[in-house]
Amino acid sequence: MKKEVIIIGNGIAGVTLAVLLQRKGISFALLHRKGEKPPFALGETLPPSVLPLLHELDLLSVFEENAYRKTYGYHSMWGSARVTDINFYHHNPYKNGLKINKHQTLERMRDLIRDDMISYDHGFDVIHEEHGNTIVLAKNEGIKIVQGKILVDATGRNRAVLQKLKVESKIFDELVALSCHVPKLKHPKLTHEVYVESFKQGWGIVSALNETENICTIYTYKGHNILSQLKDVSRWKSVLSETVYFKDFIVADDAIKIKGGNANSSVADQISGVNWLALGDAAMSFDPLSSHGITNAIYTSARAAKAIEKKLTEADEEVFPAYGKAMKTIFQQYLESKNQLYQQETRWKDADFWKRFF
Ligand SMILES: Cc1cc2nc3c(=O)[nH]c(=O)nc-3n(C[C@H](O)[C@H](O)[C@H](O)COP(=O)(O)OP(=O)(O)OC[C@H]3O[C@@H](n4cnc5c(N)ncnc54)[C@H](O)[C@@H]3O)c2cc1C
Repeated sequence: MKKEVIIIGNGIAGVTLAVLLQRKGISFALLHRKGEKPPFALGETLPPSVLPLLHELDLLSVFEENAYRKTYGYHSMWGSARVTDINFYHHNPYKNGLKINKHQTLERMRDLIRDDMISYDHGFDVIHEEHGNTIVLAKNEGIKIVQGKILVDATGRNRAVLQKLKVESKIFDELVALSCHVPKLKHPKLTHEVYVESFKQGWGIVSALNETENICTIYTYKGHNILSQLKDVSRWKSVLSETVYFKDFIVADDAIKIKGGNANSSVADQISGVNWLALGDAAMSFDPLSSHGITNAIYTSARAAKAIEKKLTEADEEVFPAYGKAMKTIFQQYLESKNQLYQQETRWKDADFWKRFF
């Protein structure tokens, strides 16, 4: 099979790129692992600032129609024991964000591109050919050979293509997340259904996922001694006993499953090469405190679609290096603002978790 672009990974970044390339009439193959389970619902929040980009890309209706709900602000207790109220009413032109249902949104977007999707179950290999083409061997019972001019890594934090290309990454911290779905509680002291609270060993966020469930996520560092306790939901209440409101959302029920994973900030040493690009988390991954991960997946896909078009139609050799450079600049700015945000919390400066920021 011959295509212009081979995209590996079908999360928000890979699927958005596929939709945008299809509209430009650029052929692609979207490779993904066979039998992937629906992702654990994290209920990621999209800030109002990304909605104009979605509108410009003609993707806003897909995200809106498949979102759990609109969000109009959030509360946070960060830096002091006072609740801060952040409202989106002054944002223009959109006065709301979205709590997205990633699985459903992706299903709708994949419906648009299903013909060009290839699944495999025994991994893939990447071979560079002399004429500048890349061949990907998608391994099933047999081997499917896909040939393309441009290869795209959209495999998220796995960076599966970059690993094959021997591109390393820089990891800036060891943040990990533990999440669980709990029965919905509307807190009497809070109006918004998104609440962030810092505490001595890390920070947590709770938000309404739908009419019956909240999602709670605790962030701390890999190796922190509270981690072993947090693996058992019946102990969350005692671990979080010093929080002001967060503990009220916790329910000790053995049937509740906990999902853990990395939430660190990291960036690939190289984000683009002569005939390849990385997108979304594969290019750079953000601390969820920034609510920037999905925005990054959409933005990098939009930039990459333009760069790919220019490279294919004008043989512009500068456009991929420029893409990589622009993304690195964004990441550097993000790192600075992330550190400033953590440094606003000075109550536990000497505690294991917080002292890393001072
Ligand atoms: C706990 C938590 C909370 C978060 N909250 C927010 C939030 O509120 N707001 C926000 O904007 N962002 C948030 N994020 C970040 C956001 O979820 C990610 O940044 C975003 O989903 C990245 O999209 P992606 O398409 O780049 O990667 P992914 O969503 O990781 O998609 C990668 C795809 O590639 C596939 N893949 C992986 N390896 C391979 C392989 N070897 N071969 C083929 N396919 C492969 C995966 O199965 C997946 O389908 C949060 C993240 C975490 C962990």
